[in-house]
Amino acid sequence: MERKGEPTFRESVDLMFNRAVKLMDLSPGLEQKIRVCNSTYTVRFGVRLRGKIETFTGYRSVHSEHMEPVKGGIRYALSVNQDEVEALAALMTYKCALVETPFGGSKGGLCIDPRAWEEDELEQITRRFAYELIKRDLIHPAQNVPAPDMGTGEREMAWIADQYMRMNTTDINGRACVTGKPPHAGGIQGRVEATGRGVQYALREFFRQSEDKAKAGLSGGLDGKRIVVQGLGNVGYHAAKFLSEEDGCKITAVIERDGALVDDKGLNIEDIRQWMVKHGGSIKGYPQATLVEDGASLLEAECDILIPAAMEGVIHRENAPRIKAPLIIEAANGPITFGGDEILRQKGCVIIPDMYANAGGVTVSYFEWVKNLSHIRFGRMQRRAEESRHQMLVDELERLSADKGLGWTLSPGFKDKYLRGAGELELVRSGLDDTMRTAYQAMREVWHSRGDVDDLRTAAYIVSIGRVSLAYQSKGL
Ligand code: GLU
Repeated sequence: MERKGEPTFRESVDLMFNRAVKLMDLSPGLEQKIRVCNSTYTVRFGVRLRGKIETFTGYRSVHSEHMEPVKGGIRYALSVNQDEVEALAALMTYKCALVETPFGGSKGGLCIDPRAWEEDELEQITRRFAYELIKRDLIHPAQNVPAPDMGTGEREMAWIADQYMRMNTTDINGRACVTGKPPHAGGIQGRVEATGRGVQYALREFFRQSEDKAKAGLSGGLDGKRIVVQGLGNVGYHAAKFLSEEDGCKITAVIERDGALVDDKGLNIEDIRQWMVKHGGSIKGYPQATLVEDGASLLEAECDILIPAAMEGVIHRENAPRIKAPLIIEAANGPITFGGDEILRQKGCVIIPDMYANAGGVTVSYFEWVKNLSHIRFGRMQRRAEESRHQMLVDELERLSADKGLGWTLSPGFKDKYLRGAGELELVRSGLDDTMRTAYQAMREVWHSRGDVDDLRTAAYIVSIGRVSLAYQSKGL
């Protein structure tokens, strides 16, 4: 979305990149090589629908191939355009580097309102788009691996995987051509929740650091923190649900496209989501909260944490001065413009940047890709072995207690929990948690150790660009 007097989304990403490279010691040539988007393929294709030929425009942009395959979602929205796809592809490069998933950055988009078409029509359109990309190796397990993004999900990914396999019948690794597939079609447990889960893990890590909390003027744990969430799509819904149900946070406002729901005592996220499912995606009429027509005004509400989880450019030069949240975590890609970011930083607001905050999705995509290439579910070999070793220990403790008359009893629930070996979902969550903690530490190291870095975004860029530049150097650039 373009905003008057502000740079475009891609320019905004470039400006943020520039701010970071100024503090680094890269040759101007390498700096330029990393900044630019390597290629953007535009395709226009026709599909016969409802008795006439409809023409669609789609993109697949490859920002950096310092590692292959390149990775990034495919977005379905009417607002998709080349500038946006390129900005998102660049963010994928930095995101993958930051969380150490061995991928370059890419992104795709199709100009379409997915709600305007029936399921079978969407399947035809998706298969045709995939066909165009597959025949140019822009979908390929070793070269370019898409995933879901706004407007797409498991269903579309399953169609894409099937289309690839129809066109490459002997490719044993065919399923690794796309991630975010449903578990029955080669997907992995925990991928759907992954981005929201990652936001939760990111906040937990932030709240473990007293110094960092102090920079935002916050203290204590997540329990009782008041949160405003924009967007109850896949990312916002999971983040808000987990933070309220598991960490004791209060979601005081939810902003959606048709208004905002407000309740100072805390909203029931699952309940609202069920309401939306039953009412064509609308929050209107939800009885348990107050509806505010001008939803976006709630971005400016008093709260401890603001989670923009909808789309890019929603916090900008015009509304940034009125934003009161001391901490913003960018669950969406690019929700704060370059101008907005500058204003918020001057006000002392701490921003946990998109390339880190929403990296849970691509992290679990990485696990799915590895699962597809290894052709075995995580945990299948170890789970029961782990259980029997734990059983041995418990048996031994109980035997000792009985033999020596010690009267030891294990606390209630301990035995069940301890004896259960980790399945795929637990392993995925553990890998995601580890990834989010490690990446946060890398960012904060730069943030605290250098006098010239005063925000987490610049720190994140420095870490990422450093890693990408090392990869280029080993390739002889
Ligand atoms: N579209 C998601 C993102 O922006 C996921 C990308 C992926 O899993 O490859 O990070």
